[in-house]
Amino acid sequence: RATINFMRPLSKSSKLDNVCYEIRGEVLKEARRLEEEGHRILKLNIGNPAPFGFDVPEEILQDVIHNLSEAQGYCDAKGIFPARKAVMQNCQQLGIKSVEIEDIYIGNGVSELIVMSMQGLLNAGDEVLIPSPDYPLWTAAVTLSSGTPVHYHCDEQSDWYPDIDDIRSKITDKTKAIVVINPNNPTGAVYPREILEQIIDLAREHQLLICADEIYDRILYDGVKHTALASLADDVLFFTFNGLSKSYRAAGYRSGWMIVSGAKYRARDLIEGIDMLASMRLCSNVPSQFAIQTALGGYQSINDLVLPEGRLYEQRNVAYDLLTQIPGVTCVKPKGALYLFPKLDPKRYPIQNDEKLVYDLLVQQRILLVQGSGFNLKDKQHLRVVFLPRTDVLEDAITRFAHFLETYQQ
Ligand code: PLP
Repeated sequence: RATINFMRPLSKSSKLDNVCYEIRGEVLKEARRLEEEGHRILKLNIGNPAPFGFDVPEEILQDVIHNLSEAQGYCDAKGIFPARKAVMQNCQQLGIKSVEIEDIYIGNGVSELIVMSMQGLLNAGDEVLIPSPDYPLWTAAVTLSSGTPVHYHCDEQSDWYPDIDDIRSKITDKTKAIVVINPNNPTGAVYPREILEQIIDLAREHQLLICADEIYDRILYDGVKHTALASLADDVLFFTFNGLSKSYRAAGYRSGWMIVSGAKYRARDLIEGIDMLASMRLCSNVPSQFAIQTALGGYQSINDLVLPEGRLYEQRNVAYDLLTQIPGVTCVKPKGALYLFPKLDPKRYPIQNDEKLVYDLLVQQRILLVQGSGFNLKDKQHLRVVFLPRTDVLEDAITRFAHFLETYQQ
């Protein structure tokens, strides 16, 4: 007869032991507790445009509504045809050659496709080169897939561009892929073509898959141009990621895509594996797939927000100006995306624990940021600030942040 053991706790899988995803981590629990007590928290911690009045373009909303009744059933595991066709045509515009419908996967946001691609690619001990700082889902996804994340240095002194020598020095027999996030979260860097070409040279030499996370490719300031990495070579294997969450302000619709291009002949088996993973989750959220064709074609309303006098452009400038006026705070001005990544001078603010800094700021000023170490950065001197709120809110928040720093000690 089985004995009943009331003391047998259910633990989480050891697969999760080293998985770390700070953007929604411990400090957030405290923020939630404070909110439950009735406090208003200013959340500058997540790049979620909608709560800050960045509405999804009307035609996208209407497309989703209009097609709801058509979207009741499962669709093809890789996505509906018109959505994939639109992504394919977009590849032609971006100069990504020879992409066919079968090379395109629609997912529940880029997030799902990142995890799926790493699950499909990695065996225990396989290494993936990931930028530091990074968008931490990449590191978490590699770890969850029993791979080993190896962080390469992005150099703040050089506009946060990837340090090519550092990348080269970290390539081993086990390296399978290199992740490039461009425009970058959290630094806002947009990489010039020469840097991208050097990364491609390394990938070519060492037969690496390049994972290009380009979800911010249309959120560009100061006339800077974005180059799709996969447009620069046909003989290297690329997975390119993009979606509706940022440029189309539809993060809640959970819709993204992954494009396989370049040296596809090298990846037949891998692609079979990813096809299987796509089938295992049946398909991605169908209603929002109907918005992809409208989103990618024609008028791009994001341009109005990033051009001079656009809301995002102005908010970036205000946030940058105010932050860099604080004594001991410096920042590389972001050329893309939705974030500032300021540095606190270690002489003036010798921070031992940047998570504690973020916690203290939350408790004292009700402002929520993310600490630099949450982006797999070793030093404890950085913070990420989302510049989605309107300028008056940013002014208030940064003034309070400056006030907090005046007396802050650890
Ligand atoms: N990649 C980067 C660089 C991001 O910053 C984010 C979200 O912040 C994602 C991927 C996830 O996007 P999605 O909403 O499509 O899952």
